[in-house]
Amino acid sequence: MTSAGELRVFFSEAYAPPSQPMLQRLGLAARLIERRGLGRLQAPRAIERAALDGLHCEHYLRAFLDGVDPLASSQGLPWSAALRDSALAMLGGQLEGAQQALRCGVAMNLARGFHHAVHARGSGFCALNGLALIAHALPQQRIAVLDCDEHGGNGTEEFAARLGNLHAVSIFGTRFGCYGGLRSSAFPVRVREQGFGKYLDALNQAMEIVAGCRPDLLVYQAGADCHRDDPKNQAGLSTRELFQRDLFVFEAAHRLQLPVLFLVGGGYQRARRVAQLNLNTVVAARTALGMDRGAAG
Ligand SMILES: [Zn+2]
Repeated sequence: MTSAGELRVFFSEAYAPPSQPMLQRLGLAARLIERRGLGRLQAPRAIERAALDGLHCEHYLRAFLDGVDPLASSQGLPWSAALRDSALAMLGGQLEGAQQALRCGVAMNLARGFHHAVHARGSGFCALNGLALIAHALPQQRIAVLDCDEHGGNGTEEFAARLGNLHAVSIFGTRFGCYGGLRSSAFPVRVREQGFGKYLDALNQAMEIVAGCRPDLLVYQAGADCHRDDPKNQAGLSTRELFQRDLFVFEAAHRLQLPVLFLVGGGYQRARRVAQLNLNTVVAARTALGMDRGAAG
């Protein structure tokens, strides 16, 4: 599995076009990762149309690709070519990242997972579901998604019921229509009221479920919007607790010898603050997976 070495981080400038202020945090995080030597950036190719065929309903997919409203903007952001191309670039990174993780044990896609997108439409700023995409594109592989965003992964949950090789587990502060179902589990936790121990219990149960699926790949969405200073948070995790969360997941994956692709999910504080939280996730991965072993110090 993973040993001392390089972390491949999929990212391109197309992920964060100037017209999308909400995505600027991704570019900031990429520059931080590069400057600190924590990963090697690699620009993926935008996903090809053929790889999307059959993932979403054809009527919706065509509307999104061609900009036919109102469906093209059903995710809640006004459609533009730049917004579409940003999503297609991130989805390209999802597939290349998944393949890299299967080959080398770990990879990062510095992107959102688009976990609210359902089969028939977009929702919650998510146009095409990048988590379900991996299971759709790699039908021979069992894919487990552990989604630790502030918001429940309702879209991925819906896809898990459709795709026999996709298992979805969500731990969230805000349910967002996520209740668990066929091949999916839902854990609502609010740390302010219930304590961080409750969150760790949920993580434990989640990793037991993941292990029970005997997946070929773990896709971990390390959302930063469950941070207690985030305007959207209900989960209420501190910076240190987010880091502990990430360490827990990566250590468990390492124990299980499970390849992991990770991505950053949501984050709505100042871009610089979110980028720093994303950087902490990278540090947690490197620490837990022993990627800094042999480094000077
Ligand atoms: Zn979120």
